[in-house]
Amino acid sequence: MTKFWANSGDSHLVEPADLFTTSLPADLAARMPRSEKDDDGRHETVHVDGQAFRRRMPRAAMLTDDHGLTVDQRAPGANDMALRLVDLDQEGIWAELVYPSIGIWMSSIQDPDLLAAGCRAVNDWAIQYQRFSPRYVCTATIPLLTAEHAVAEVHRAADLDFKAAYLSVTPCLGAPDWNDETWEPLWAALTETGMVAAFHIGTEAHDAASFHGGYFRGPGGALINYVETTYGGQRAITKMIASGVFDRHPELKAMVSEGGATWGPFIADRLDEAYRQHASAVRPQLRRLPSEYLYENVYASFQHDRSAVPAVTAMGWNNVCWGSDYPHIEGTFGHTQKTLHELFDDVDPATRRRVTVGAFAELFPHVPAAPADED
Ligand code: MN
Repeated sequence: MTKFWANSGDSHLVEPADLFTTSLPADLAARMPRSEKDDDGRHETVHVDGQAFRRRMPRAAMLTDDHGLTVDQRAPGANDMALRLVDLDQEGIWAELVYPSIGIWMSSIQDPDLLAAGCRAVNDWAIQYQRFSPRYVCTATIPLLTAEHAVAEVHRAADLDFKAAYLSVTPCLGAPDWNDETWEPLWAALTETGMVAAFHIGTEAHDAASFHGGYFRGPGGALINYVETTYGGQRAITKMIASGVFDRHPELKAMVSEGGATWGPFIADRLDEAYRQHASAVRPQLRRLPSEYLYENVYASFQHDRSAVPAVTAMGWNNVCWGSDYPHIEGTFGHTQKTLHELFDDVDPATRRRVTVGAFAELFPHVPAAPADED
């Protein structure tokens, strides 16, 4: 069987439990996100600055997964930057766009200076991966309570050589939404530094009330909630296009990780129809059709979706990337090659390479080229 090599547009670092206690003063560290496992090993309570969020663990931290495998059996390199490359080589994954794990909870902090300190701590730790190997493309976590704090961290991160900024699909609670002019300096800073605006699905900012109220319960709950997590990325991109972000910053690129791909052409159609049929109500007017920004400035990554390759071949969206979601249980670790063959065996090689390596390489041209596929 041919070994396909692929870049991953969706992977995660797993922060060490002592990340904040070793990098921040004790009073600040105590308010940072931390996970407390239940005795059953399947639930955790995430504490963030005095708030508590209890949930079933969907993440790499779960002691055993649905197949009874432990974290180390599932992904031995999850916590080790050298061992991780062994995992990647085995799976046929070349480079990865890597997001935080516990750091995703940062968006629930509501003190701007505390949030900024936490982001600096996460970023100073994460960039060590990228310094260890250029196959790790680390995302800098950006504090999204005020534009001033966000812009300051974008520039600091660019100086540290980050090539992508992790943005939650909604800004922090209490901050204006992504279509608000408040964020104009952030888009300008990302464009100026050449950093990709990298959104990961399921990262809506929550306080304890909205977190627990935001879940569907009853029959089908697990499936309903899983589908629901994907919509936030689509909303963020819709707000950016509609409010003219890419009109003002045509060089800016955005990525939506883990949310599938066919939503792109779908939203492009809806935006164009509204732009044309509701023209008198459209503000701001755009220089180009909304769909052109979606097709050119926006990228997406998927892991298993059977419909994702037709988003390229049948719908013409060339910015679709594959992603492993390593080391999370929604991901492909242990069956990456099987998944890639199921997705690409009937796809022409040029399209396959565009999705597995090309679109990612276009976003991150500093990464050494992925190996050729191996017979
Ligand atoms: Mn992911």
